[in-house]
Amino acid sequence: MVSATVTGAPYETDPVYQMAVRQLKDVAEILGLPDEVVEVLRHPERLLQVKIPVRLESGKTVVFIGWRSQHNSALGPYKGGVRYHPNVSVGEVVALSMWMTWKNSLSQLPFGGGKGGVKVDPSQLSQRELEELSRKYFAAISRIVGEDIDIPAPDVYTNPQTMAWFFDEYSKMVGYPAWGVVTAKPYQIGGLKVRIISTGYGVALVAREAAKKVLNGLEGKTVAVQGFGNVGRYAALYLSEWGAKVVAVSDSKGGIYNSNGLDVKKVMEVKDKTRSVINYKDAKRITNEELLELGVDILVPAAIENVITEKNADKVKAKIISEGANGPVTPEADEILARKGAIAIPDILANAGGVSMSWIEWCHNRMGCWITEEEALKKLDKKMTDNFKLVYEEWQRKYSDKPMRIAAYAIAVERVVNAMKLRGWI
Ligand code: GLU
Repeated sequence: MVSATVTGAPYETDPVYQMAVRQLKDVAEILGLPDEVVEVLRHPERLLQVKIPVRLESGKTVVFIGWRSQHNSALGPYKGGVRYHPNVSVGEVVALSMWMTWKNSLSQLPFGGGKGGVKVDPSQLSQRELEELSRKYFAAISRIVGEDIDIPAPDVYTNPQTMAWFFDEYSKMVGYPAWGVVTAKPYQIGGLKVRIISTGYGVALVAREAAKKVLNGLEGKTVAVQGFGNVGRYAALYLSEWGAKVVAVSDSKGGIYNSNGLDVKKVMEVKDKTRSVINYKDAKRITNEELLELGVDILVPAAIENVITEKNADKVKAKIISEGANGPVTPEADEILARKGAIAIPDILANAGGVSMSWIEWCHNRMGCWITEEEALKKLDKKMTDNFKLVYEEWQRKYSDKPMRIAAYAIAVERVVNAMKLRGWI
């Protein structure tokens, strides 16, 4: 038997990558896919590592390392964000690119999956240093991206301003404004104002749909949100606007709790002014770990991967878990939650609102025309609710004794495999 690690690929031993492979294997077994297909699917089609030397304000030059992983293009050009984080690893980037393949497939977008990352703590850089880093990263990956090749977007600690630098750098290189080369651009240069809320809005939408099934609706139901970036904060905002009570939120510095509910808009102001939710007055302090175990109806893990594991899954009390982050629940934890009768709405379904809005932006960029914010949100609403329905029904029909993720993965992986077969790749 040839061992998997024999490939010597630099991501083989990464725990996040191994989790992504485990999820793929679980679903491959259910779909009856041969091992060789799994072997093809578990590796990215292309993986590029780049060196980014940045001249700091001090005059000193430091080197950052970045990657772009292009996992699969059977359904279209690679698509997925770029994250800046001090703990990014090559394995994490490859895993995230694989998740993008499934996410885009499940949402029936005309895209394959890709992801990028730079190992950097952006809070330690000045705006000028960040600009230099961003432009140099994009220049370094420019030969493998393009409107019809690979279309990056924001992810953890990157934003529309980062996209503006990417877009500008690339447009200068090719000699024309390449509107469609990145999405989630500022609205003044080809982006959509509603892109920023889309991921969180989608996370809230699928939680609302799930609440109709198992909680008799959202009215008065309690919610805890881990992570208060663009995903967590808008999920909290919309869930509270639709009648739920957000009792706890957190960020990397800690969490806050008030059983009477938090004023989400106020928490947003505090976060923007002071950089952390913990400075919100009318609540008691809790830790990120405690937040996950609160006796709430809906839990939104919207920070990072691997936060609900076999160690704490039993203590999670929420009936609905809507995955704002990518990979917050490990496969072992997923099983435990399913046995307890909780619904973990998988990331590739729950947080697809961002990339779906990216697709709407990209389509209009390619056509050279603009869509109104209202039309764009309506489209997104329909896409997310249709997707939820599709996965929920497939789950109930075929896999109700297993986590909901299995149904989502089965649909997504099967579509990619079919495309690969039709194209004669397997
Ligand atoms: N980074 C986001 C995600 O993980 C958005 C990707 C995109 O818009 O391409 O889905």
